[in-house]
Amino acid sequence: AVPETDDLLAALDPEQRAVATTFGVPVCVIAGAGTGKTRAITHRIAHGCAIGAYDPLAVLAVTFTTRAAGELRGRLRGLGQPRVQARTFHSAALRQAQYFWPAAMGGELPRVSDQRAGLMAEAAGRQLNQRVESGTLRDLLTEISWAKVSNVPPADYAELAIAGGREVAAIDPTGVGRIYDRYERLKVDRGVIDFDDVLLCAVALLSDHDDVRAQVRRTYRHLVVDEYQDVSPLQQKLLELWLGDQPDLCVVGDPAQTIHSFAGARSTYLTRFAVRHPNAEVIRLVRDYRSTTQVVDVANQVLRARGPAEGVKLVAQGGEGPAPIFTQADSESDEAARVAAWLAQLIRDGVPPADLAVLYRIHAQSPAYEAALSSAKVPFTLRSSEGFFQRQEVRTALHALRGQAGAAPDDDLVNVVRGVLAGAGWTVEPPSGQGQARERWESLAALFTLAVDHVGRHPDADLPHLLAELDERARAEHAPSGAGVTLSTLHAAKGLEWTGVALVGLQEGTLPFALAQSPDQLAEEQRLLYVGVTRARKHLWLSWAPSRTGGGQRRKPSRFLDGIRPETEPAHRAVRSGKRAKSRHAVTCRVCGKPLAPGAELKLGRHADCPSSYDEHTWELLREWRRQEAAEANLPAFCVFTDATLMAIAEAR
Ligand code: ATP
Ligand code: MG
Repeated sequence: AVPETDDLLAALDPEQRAVATTFGVPVCVIAGAGTGKTRAITHRIAHGCAIGAYDPLAVLAVTFTTRAAGELRGRLRGLGQPRVQARTFHSAALRQAQYFWPAAMGGELPRVSDQRAGLMAEAAGRQLNQRVESGTLRDLLTEISWAKVSNVPPADYAELAIAGGREVAAIDPTGVGRIYDRYERLKVDRGVIDFDDVLLCAVALLSDHDDVRAQVRRTYRHLVVDEYQDVSPLQQKLLELWLGDQPDLCVVGDPAQTIHSFAGARSTYLTRFAVRHPNAEVIRLVRDYRSTTQVVDVANQVLRARGPAEGVKLVAQGGEGPAPIFTQADSESDEAARVAAWLAQLIRDGVPPADLAVLYRIHAQSPAYEAALSSAKVPFTLRSSEGFFQRQEVRTALHALRGQAGAAPDDDLVNVVRGVLAGAGWTVEPPSGQGQARERWESLAALFTLAVDHVGRHPDADLPHLLAELDERARAEHAPSGAGVTLSTLHAAKGLEWTGVALVGLQEGTLPFALAQSPDQLAEEQRLLYVGVTRARKHLWLSWAPSRTGGGQRRKPSRFLDGIRPETEPAHRAVRSGKRAKSRHAVTCRVCGKPLAPGAELKLGRHADCPSSYDEHTWELLREWRRQEAAEANLPAFCVFTDATLMAIAEAR
């Protein structure tokens, strides 16, 4: 059912309503996380369609990640607008490039290679006369992608990189420029393009062909951009080509959530929107509808720590919730086990697993969590931005399915797919082990779910029909969604929300990541923490571990936690040495449960007027300290008086 116009508007606050009802001028929304930006634009589209201002087929909504695009589509479906196009910049560009290429250029658009890393390794290997190691390769991929989306051609790269102080570990800018050049040629030789070329091809087609541009502008007359703070110069160029000179454009974003500037994103397109469009309506939202007061408090502290320039403070509308949990674990695997126990408890309390997420900085952190969740029997869905369809097992399975496509019709499609996947080693039950076997199983299970979904939507579908949809998904990189706890990088979590979120690995070297050194890079890492905190509706867990599984250097808690996590050191140290101390924060006495104001005097696990004597609680505290002291010479574990202590002791029992 299509909601009534009044209902659509009644679901919005006055500022959001302005976003949904202001047509005829460019609209720009600058607002913090959880303030309803995405809600405002989906309602704008639905409202525009309901009053006849918009033709649903003439609306193009764009965002950055495939999950965010899926989220937009889901919300639009819920508002009775299933036909509106909601895509990533890449998938919109790819469709247009594929569609217009034959007539404009002749032949098909070259294939988008899924071997980008392989091509880059080859180009670098030839230039340097030696194999590049994986870290350098990653840096090269990021850097050359940055150059492409920033409109920097190979010939100009070195000069610009030197002027801009850009450094790719181990290779000088001239060398990088040459590798970039070789990489571009290699693709031409192989007849393929890469992910960034898709945007370049679309931009070239639209710039050079007036008829193509005119047709696209006739097709999409209403443009909406979510997460606009992460637009790159190339995406901005594409947007301008789509727009023409009569823009019906609405952009929304949060400068504090820019997390792709290393890849060329510029929040200035958002913050200076009104300069480029002097007649624009700029709307600000401050009410946070997503999260509890406690979660919003942490988010505001992260913003405050970033300095007064980040002034937009969020005002929680969500009511009270549980206190965020700060935990120091002994090691990464201990941390993962604790997170798994926390999640299992929330699930027992009735939170569906799909409403929970574990978010981390880099993909390499996921195996510890896969293992811990498997052994705690918590279902999970691994979300890798590396691309589901690029995984080896998925490619092999698709290859096998293609092999069947010619034969494919005396059995029903689901059985055919099941048979092929079984041939690839898939079983209905997950394997008992973890790690790679489990990951492979997850991929094949997800592929099977995709096939079942497809048959649900198209009961008459045959194998070629299914393969065509999978190919389309592979091109657009729509990873399948599952019903388990989400495991995701912070980058891929943007724009999404869960009832409970665990932010893990919050130690120096991981967040901020070791390679982030300059003030700009560090600021971006801190914005990642802000993005992470603001994904939680109600339950928030933040943890770190001083040592990695398998040894290595001892690491300190993330500097971004300073002033955010409960201050633990002073009381702990003082009490350990038998001295008196003053609590710096409002705390609860561990022994009598009395709340204490900052400045209260503490001694040996008790405050001055604590009624209790040395009872079993006190004794347990001392035992716990000893354990901690032995393990952690320099890193005090936790405060005697905080809730975290209670938790840790409850666990130790
Ligand atoms: P992000 O910056 O993380 O993308 P956002 O600004 O896009 O956040 P939304 O995802 O649109 O925020 O909204 C956050 C949550 O608050 C959603 O669950 C949404 O349904 C809810 N919400 C937004 N506005 C309102 C409102 N006026 N009344 C009730 N709930 C709202
Ligand atoms: Mg949003």
